[in-house]
Formats: sequence, structure tokens, C-alpha cells
Amino acid sequence: MSLTKEDILQQAEELDVKFIRMQFTDILGITKNVAITVEQLEEALEGNTMFDGSSIEGFTRIQESDMYLEPDYDTFTIFPWRPNEGGTVARLICDVYDADGNPFSGGPRNILKKVIKEAAEMGYEMYAGPEPEFFLFETDENGEPTTITHDKGGYFDLSPVDLGYNTRRDISLALEEMGFEVEASHHEVAPGQHEIDFKYADALKTADNIATFKFVTKAIAKEHGLHATFMPKPIFGENGSGMHMNQSLFKDGENAFYDPDDELGLSKIAYHYIGGLMKHAKAIAAITNPTINSYKRLVPGYEAPVYMAWSSANRSALVRIPASRGEGTRVEMRNPDPAANPYLAMAVMLKAGLDGIKNEIDPGEETLDNIYDMTDAERKEAGIDSLPGDLMSALGQLKQDEVIKSALGEHAYTHFVKGKTIEWNVYRNQVHQWELDQYLETF
Ligand code: GLU
Ligand code: MG
Ligand code: MG
Repeated sequence: MSLTKEDILQQAEELDVKFIRMQFTDILGITKNVAITVEQLEEALEGNTMFDGSSIEGFTRIQESDMYLEPDYDTFTIFPWRPNEGGTVARLICDVYDADGNPFSGGPRNILKKVIKEAAEMGYEMYAGPEPEFFLFETDENGEPTTITHDKGGYFDLSPVDLGYNTRRDISLALEEMGFEVEASHHEVAPGQHEIDFKYADALKTADNIATFKFVTKAIAKEHGLHATFMPKPIFGENGSGMHMNQSLFKDGENAFYDPDDELGLSKIAYHYIGGLMKHAKAIAAITNPTINSYKRLVPGYEAPVYMAWSSANRSALVRIPASRGEGTRVEMRNPDPAANPYLAMAVMLKAGLDGIKNEIDPGEETLDNIYDMTDAERKEAGIDSLPGDLMSALGQLKQDEVIKSALGEHAYTHFVKGKTIEWNVYRNQVHQWELDQYLETF
């Protein structure tokens, strides 16, 4: 489906749209928007919506702050839940352009488009299907989030234990009204934890979908008096929230990862793609696991990867190959979490896979044992390395990885590392409750 300017103006009229949110994401993956009235829509469709880039995390300096929003017409959709402004609200996802009319090199969506183009030049199109997990927490009398989960349910539990059922159902319904194909939704392992899976799509659409999914989930949860969070590890001692990313490359309309003659049904392209993901996994982590809290999820025992191995079966591995073959042949990278900027996360994974293909990177043997149960010596023997243990180590890895840096480009790379280093230093200066409990009396 490709919408024209006329289609959008007509739909806006038919649907009685009063406001349009022009959306884009900052470098941290936070959805930002400029609301315009329907009277300004025609102008906005021409790319004439201006905003102050210096007020957006990781964009521009004050002296070069005028930026423009260039809407992607195919992302036009209305918000199906009750708007509080009165009148129907629609949205358009936008690319960011500078004052000279060029795509802004630090814009996350532009960055992903650049890597997609590189894949296209090699004859490939990436498809991706995410598995975002999140928690639903109760809010207090002021509407502020608490860390009290709305239920005590566990994996695949049914209501009435699963009190999040209604919320999850309403999120799924809203998503479907916005054009998503929701494939599955279920209670996850931890109390109050849920997952909603939607159909895979090309990389750009999937990144747009993740951005949309996150704010729809928050908005609908709020209507139910709950707070939805994509924080990777909100509760000590429980599973954290991941966002596994299923990915495949298509060439000439065929899945390029499938080879019926191979023992595992995987093509050379697939092995090399896995090789690329594994080679760059440490640097990728800085982007796919971008918060201090992200690394509290990546510890043994909670179904999240810690060690860098791949496997056709093993859920403790970093890269797993789900069972389906043919059209559905894909690799699942398991370390990404939903706090990641979806555009940058997709860009760095695709870039790593392409590097694997270009350089025919061998992923090594698959690991069939449960890696959590292996001793350090056994892992060393098997050549299994670990993901970075914290954000600062991941940033250190990113600094050394020219391939992943080139995917981000100078602007985003510099701003990302700068912002994250400040975050780390602020954290490092805190004295945490754990330290007081541990040391106050002992020393
Ligand atoms: N919640 C787990 C994680 O942190 C994943 C559970 C699953 O396999 O879906 O990655
Ligand atoms: Mg899951
Ligand atoms: Mg999974």
C-alpha cells in the first residue's frame, strides 16, 4: 500500500481528524512528536514542519537548530483510543531533514535506511520480527508508577490469575486497528510480565512498529490504571524483559537463509550472518542493551543470554535458530531489550550480518549444551566468550568496533557515547541501598 498526499487529506477528512502528531525518535529511542492541526496537514505533507533540533537528545547544537520533518505517507494512521484533546488524532512517522534539505545523518530512521540501502546494493532485504516483553505495574493514588505487579501469574497462565488479560487484549485490539497483525500475546514468566508478538515485516517497518507498539502499550495500560514499562530488569530475582529479534534476509523474493541440502537447513549466507552477529555482539550490545539496567538482565538463570554462542536448540545461547525452515528460516538474536532504540538496534544488527557475509565470517560450531551449566573452564575450552557485563564495558567495545561505528555514523556515535558516559558517571557516583545493607555495619 502506498498512500499519496491526496489519499491522506481525504482520509483525514473522512475520519474527522483534528490533530496530527508528527512523530520521530531521538537518539535514545524516545518517541517525540510535534502536534499540528488538520489545517496545517497539507503543508506538513510537503515536509514543511519545522522544529528546534537543539531541544532533542543527540540532535543539533543551538546554532544550527532548525530542522524539518519529512513524513513517510505510508505510516499515516489514527489513534483508536479516546483522545483527550477532543477530535480524532492521527499520526505520521517522519524522517528528520536539516535546514539545507538533506536527511539529517544523526536521525535514527535515516541511519537504518542507510544500512538497508547497503543491504539492497548486495541484493538483500532484511525482515525482522520482534518479541517485546514488558511489565504492568500498579499506580499509586497520584497516578505514579509503583513496582507492585498487577498479578502473581506466570508463563502462559490464564485469567483469573492473569489480571493483565484485559489490558493485553485492549493493547492488541488497538494495535490491530492501527494495522498490526498481532500473532500471539501471553503472560510471561515473571509476575506482571507480558509479551505481545506481531507479524514480521521489513526492517524499517518493524522498527516503526516497535516505536508505535511501545507508546500504544503505555497509553492503553494507563487507561486501565496500570503503568507499562519496558525497563529491562525492574525486579531483582525475576526474569527481565527482552526483545528477541528474529531476522532473515531475502534475495529475489526467496529466503536467503534456507538451504534444504544443509544438515541444519541453513545456507552459507545464514552461517556468515550469524558469524557477523557473533563477531560484533559485544559492540552491538551498547546499542541493543543501552541502559545500566540492561546488564542486570544479562545474568545467568533468567532465560537471558550471557555467553556468546549460537545454537539450533538452546535458549541459553545468544543466537538461536528457531525450528521453522523454508520461508520462515531465521535467526533469533536474544540479547536485545525493549529499552533499545529500535532503528539503531536494527541498523547495527543488519550491519553486523552484512559484514559477516562480505567477509565470510565462520560462526564456529553450534553449542548444544546448556551454557549456564558449563564451568568457566568448559566454556573456555569450547571458545565461548561472554557479553559485556555492564554498560561501560559495552561502550568500550563499541569504541573499538569500526564496522558498528560506521553503521551509526559519526554524529550518532559521538552523541550516543557522550550521553551514555554521563549516565554511567552519574550512576557510579550514587551510593545504593545494597551497599549500605552490605557495608554499613560490617565496616
Ligand atoms: N524474559 C526472557 C529474557 O529476558 C526471555 C524469555 C523468553 O524466552 O521468551 O530474555
Ligand atoms: Mg518471551
Ligand atoms: Mg524468543
